[in-house]
Amino acid sequence: MSLPIKDQFVLPEGMIYLDGNSLGPLPKSVSQHLSRMVTNEWGQHLIKGWNLDEWMDQPSRVGDQVGKLIGASAGSVVMGDTLSIKVYQALSAALEMRPDRKVILSDSGNFPSDLYMAQGLIRHLNRGHELRIVDPAQVTDAVTEDVAAVMITQVDYRTGRMHDMATITRQAHAKGAVMIWDLAHSAGAVPVDLAASNCEFAVGCTYKYLNGGPGAPAFIYVRPDILGGIDPALSGWLGHDAPFAFEQDYRPGTGIERMRVGTPPVLQLAALEAALKVWDTVTMAELRTASVHLCETFIAEVEARCPALTLASPRDPDQRGSQVSFTFEHGYPAMQALIARNVIGDYRAPHIMRFGLTPLYVDEADVRRAVDVLQDVLDNRLWDNPDYQMTGRVT
Ligand SMILES: *Cc1c(COP(=O)(O)O)cnc(C)c1O
Repeated sequence: MSLPIKDQFVLPEGMIYLDGNSLGPLPKSVSQHLSRMVTNEWGQHLIKGWNLDEWMDQPSRVGDQVGKLIGASAGSVVMGDTLSIKVYQALSAALEMRPDRKVILSDSGNFPSDLYMAQGLIRHLNRGHELRIVDPAQVTDAVTEDVAAVMITQVDYRTGRMHDMATITRQAHAKGAVMIWDLAHSAGAVPVDLAASNCEFAVGCTYKYLNGGPGAPAFIYVRPDILGGIDPALSGWLGHDAPFAFEQDYRPGTGIERMRVGTPPVLQLAALEAALKVWDTVTMAELRTASVHLCETFIAEVEARCPALTLASPRDPDQRGSQVSFTFEHGYPAMQALIARNVIGDYRAPHIMRFGLTPLYVDEADVRRAVDVLQDVLDNRLWDNPDYQMTGRVT
């Protein structure tokens, strides 16, 4: 089973790309759109482009397009900055909403940057907040009445384990906590219904499953009914109600615009906007069906042919995102051996071989061929080569 849009992507000849969970490949529409935009808009219009080419509206316009993919209503999502910054904005706003509570609850499956941002915010607020990190299976029970904010990444970047948004959000609200979801490995990977979940905040990045390119901007969602009360910690001029009035004092803009900070990354947003065209021809439900099929096929093939590997992802597809991970003692050199043979996955310490199975541009034949190569690497100990031991700066 495959989706009929693989030819919308640039993929080097012979490469099987199973790393779209880290950096999505280049959609063909992006090169054309970017080159036209750079030549005609930046090149010819220069400063006039802000009005003429509607650069200033990009963060909200593209935000609405991303919003459609995650069940958010128009006007509730805006683009900008990086995910770490958006985590900081959501968390600082959430803590202000619960001034009498001092606990931020997260889990050990969260991505370190989210936890680091929380730690930095706590240090600088210096009001006695605490970051409480529990096992992913304990999150629901750990929401107690001292928790100000529950900050959870839905899909674990290492194992692909997926939390149930509705259940955790319901529990957070039952205990009076504010809910923040990080959708870094969900947006464009699995169906998400933010409005139905009723969470207050969501954040995510667009260079993974949304194929916006390296350095593509992040997004932030704020539930519309609370927007008017949000006092942004990062009160930059483009989140001001009237940026071009150049007033001395900050006044937050109306609606989601107040979550903007400074000048938008216009070229990156143009690339992302072109990349999002892919979603005109495929629904999230179709994508999910194809993704589950690819993951099930991959797990069955690896378990049948590569017994040295142990499944690190949940076996139940309902509890898994769009990636599959295996542990293997020699996972790092084995992944280097795979990459040298043009099967691109990645490695996460300790011992995790991670494979993103993204049906926009990966089909069943790719998955089977990837397992052929993996089996060869294991059966013939091809990983046992000093060239594969060196660690690069980015793994
Ligand atoms: C990828 C990822 C990040 C990366 O943050 P940046 O600021 O975009 O570098 C943060 N959090 C999670 C959960 C991620 O998966």
